[in-house]
Amino acid sequence: MGKKKKQFAIIGLGRFGGSICKELYEMGHEVLAIDMNEDKVNAYAPYSTQTIHANAAEENVLKALGIRNFEYVIVAIGADIQTSILTTLFLKEMNIKNVWVKAQNHYHHKVLEKVGADRIIHPEKDMGVRVAQRLADEKILDYIELSEDYSVVELRATRKLHDKTILELDVRAKYGCTILAVNKEGKVEVAPNPETRIEENNCFVVLGRKRDIQRFEDEGISAAF
Ligand code: ATP
Repeated sequence: MGKKKKQFAIIGLGRFGGSICKELYEMGHEVLAIDMNEDKVNAYAPYSTQTIHANAAEENVLKALGIRNFEYVIVAIGADIQTSILTTLFLKEMNIKNVWVKAQNHYHHKVLEKVGADRIIHPEKDMGVRVAQRLADEKILDYIELSEDYSVVELRATRKLHDKTILELDVRAKYGCTILAVNKEGKVEVAPNPETRIEENNCFVVLGRKRDIQRFEDEGISAAF
């Protein structure tokens, strides 16, 4: 693996925490997996560097685990909101730089913000938005919301874009969007050269304000049909 190995601790091995654990471990990172349910701990032993059977909502337990040495800690405790908040509070008091937490609802989110969570994730809501975007627009292959205003969208090139260079498309001047990458049958060019020629059915990734991307889609791509 070319990339630097990072150290992650994951608290809670439900479907969300478990998927993160497995994915990071398969990417070659060091993963400490913690859960108070022994069956979960055993199930994830093959997919983590180390598993620990413990109750993470106790400050002295977290300290004894040496969790302060981890660069990233993910709190993936869902249903028990109080435990999730308390654990996050302890982790931030230990000065852990990156504490990412799964939130159940709006109120949970607000409290997590107050106790200093660095990233708050709503997996069902976020995935719902992505699925809706893909359902509503067949040209959209993937969609990531960066903020209320900005998003990153993966699009498929229509005939209208065929044989045009990035320079000719000039999406930055015309629509204020940036083409981040072009995928030509699996060969990905990141930060593509202005001379890169797009062909029909190539995939490309665009970053911009939502309304500008929509304008690019409506005027720049779809008019050809
Ligand atoms: P998912 O949707 O990701 O499957 P969920 O939102 O239903 O999960 P829970 O099942 O409530 O979330 O919790 C996820 C995991 O966190 C469970 O395996 C549970 O045992 C573990 N967990 C809950 N509280 C603690 C705790 N205090 N310490 C360690 N692990 C905990």
